[in-house]
Amino acid sequence: MVGDVLAMIEDQMARPVVRSCGQRRQLFLYLKEQQKTLIRPLLNLDTVTAFAIHNRYHPDIKRKIYVVCAREVNKPCYYCQGSGRGEQICDAEVSFMLPVFVYSLIDTRSGRQIMYRDQDGLDQPVSGLRLLELTAFGAVRDILATFSAFVHAGGDISDCDWTLEQFVGSQGKFIVTKPKPLKPLSPQLKALIPSDDLIRKCVLEFAPPLSSTGKADPGSKILTRAIDSSSYRGLLSTDRMDWEDEM
Ligand SMILES: [Zn+2]
Repeated sequence: MVGDVLAMIEDQMARPVVRSCGQRRQLFLYLKEQQKTLIRPLLNLDTVTAFAIHNRYHPDIKRKIYVVCAREVNKPCYYCQGSGRGEQICDAEVSFMLPVFVYSLIDTRSGRQIMYRDQDGLDQPVSGLRLLELTAFGAVRDILATFSAFVHAGGDISDCDWTLEQFVGSQGKFIVTKPKPLKPLSPQLKALIPSDDLIRKCVLEFAPPLSSTGKADPGSKILTRAIDSSSYRGLLSTDRMDWEDEM
């Protein structure tokens, strides 16, 4: 059936580009089980950049979905609208992208610094400017709840360093988020604060939306990347800075 083949092609094309682990780790801070990080949020929670993202976990990495909703760039979204036949593939959820300076990320069992492999194949410590993606679901909900409570009590989360540590309990994963004593943001860290435009550019290039053009123009491609996806590499990454080990 022609229709079935077209549907298969659409589904194949809708697969997100799988980025290398190194690229992901250069843009985002990932906290896994039994890992602890010391960070400084560079903005308060009320000024973070929010995105609608289609995010569906699957154990097979090729079937994972992590794509910015095309409505973010004012285009019809494949994942919201399907291929024009009205089906919805995966709901979009809101993510808040908080820029943070990562002093260190360690494995609490071994005490070792977590490394990632960069584009030149070199192992580098996870350190420097990253985005911490906060959502109201999953283990990171704990971070968002703690930060929200801090802000509601009149605080500014960028006024101090924070430790985040992930544990596994009988109820599943959870993250303990603790503030350090208040300390003004240093001029070096202030200079690293990325603009809202830069954060949007990095996230859009990392997880480019797919727009659906429907059936209105049979001569056009069924799906198009809604933005040009050039390399975001290096936009956010910074050289490692000297820092005091306070963990
Ligand atoms: Zn969408």
